[in-house]
Amino acid sequence: MGCFDALSARQIAAGIVAGDFSATEVARASLDAIAARDGQVQAFLQLSEDRALAAAAKTDAARAAGEVLPPLAGVPVAFKDNMNLMGTRTTCASRMLETYESAYTATCVQRMLDAGVTPMGKLNMDEFAFGSTTDSSAFHPTNNPWDTTRVPGGSSGGSAAAVASGEITIALGSDTGGSIRQPASLCGVVGMKPTYGMVSRFGVVAFGSSLDQVGPFGRHVEDVALALNALTAGGHDRFDSTSQDGEQDFLAHLNDSIEGRSVGVIPALFEAKGLAPEVRTALQRAADKLADAGANIIEVDLPNMASAIAAYYVIAPCEAFSNLARYDGVRYGYQEPGCSTLAEQSSLSRAHGFGAEAKRRQMLGAYLLSSGIYEKYYLAAQKVRTLITADYRRAFKQVDAILMPASPTPAWKHGAISDPAELYLADIYTISNNIAGNCGISVPVCLGAESGLPIGAQLQGPVFADAQLLTFARALERSCSMEGVVAPGFSGRGGEL
Ligand code: GLN
Repeated sequence: MGCFDALSARQIAAGIVAGDFSATEVARASLDAIAARDGQVQAFLQLSEDRALAAAAKTDAARAAGEVLPPLAGVPVAFKDNMNLMGTRTTCASRMLETYESAYTATCVQRMLDAGVTPMGKLNMDEFAFGSTTDSSAFHPTNNPWDTTRVPGGSSGGSAAAVASGEITIALGSDTGGSIRQPASLCGVVGMKPTYGMVSRFGVVAFGSSLDQVGPFGRHVEDVALALNALTAGGHDRFDSTSQDGEQDFLAHLNDSIEGRSVGVIPALFEAKGLAPEVRTALQRAADKLADAGANIIEVDLPNMASAIAAYYVIAPCEAFSNLARYDGVRYGYQEPGCSTLAEQSSLSRAHGFGAEAKRRQMLGAYLLSSGIYEKYYLAAQKVRTLITADYRRAFKQVDAILMPASPTPAWKHGAISDPAELYLADIYTISNNIAGNCGISVPVCLGAESGLPIGAQLQGPVFADAQLLTFARALERSCSMEGVVAPGFSGRGGEL
């Protein structure tokens, strides 16, 4: 009946219920697509074929027994490799955790499994989620399915690329400063960072605990909403004190009209230095489409946003330094052999277990938290954080959502940006949202007139207005012609159902 990559999550689950195909056939189609495509894309770090087929067989048996199937029954899903799934390795794409076997399953992964998904494996990322390219993976880079000489973005680059190439239907990623929204934009898929606290982080390897949030990727806004339903089912997780209580149905208002609602734009951002002309054009187009759908476009200002990168690159490394102190060559991960003292074992394990960027962040964090320095930088950054949060609160009194790019440029060539500071600057549009804890989503708008590469528009919403944000995203998706698109070189390759 065609390739499984043409189907949305809802269509797959409904097709299994209707008996059009079995979960096992869908799992095999996804495995076929991965076999045919991933040699070039390199999104996966671990494929779990046996686990996938066993889960699919369980779904088929449940259907045969007349049970009511859960909402994502049989949908092929994979997880960023900073999420624990018992029986798999969780490497964070680092030598430090190369052989680490998950001792338990993360709540986000478990909730997807409870929703019936077929788990296909673990996906590549920047080492410990530090980065915007996935090139800092200790194992291999991941390639952008739209042009394999280019980066997929990061740090959840494997997640974005596996969905964009049609290997799987949904992926989970994590976003500390843009790591879901930026790769989604660069790969032409939908990627959502829910409000801080919306999804439990229990079992997800910590980077910046006051910023980290888990979220879904899909080729349809509806798939992302379905995944968010699954991720929040059961409400508060007693293993993550920041996780919110209360379940919502993110599908209930998905197709509501946005007539009369308001979307903010920040004119200065459209003129920002470094913003590629075709990204500016795409954003203008997104604003026009939202206006056509009945939204009022209103100018707003976030006056302290210009300080967001500076604040983030103080706060995030400090939290990373503190979180990564646990990799001490004793308790977890890589242990340097043949050391005669504990100090030597710890220092050599860390020297050889971590890559360059992971070391840079931790050294920065150690310095910034040292006495005398802490007051000057860390406390100042926290004050900026308060100002940025207040800016958003003010703006969201005027508008329901704010429209901005997710990335200043479309996907760049591997190795084209080697200066870390230059890479940090590219996080300009995503970072303030994490600082304030808001929700945000990137929706593919068009292909760039110059590059032919996909460009996403980012919508940001107030805390816990995730359902409303999805309504805006759906309205935007409906008016662009990018819904369900698989990267052209990969579409339909393997994966017949
Ligand atoms: N690019 C940002 C960084 O390197 C964001 C990473 C992330 O969200 N995990 O810190």
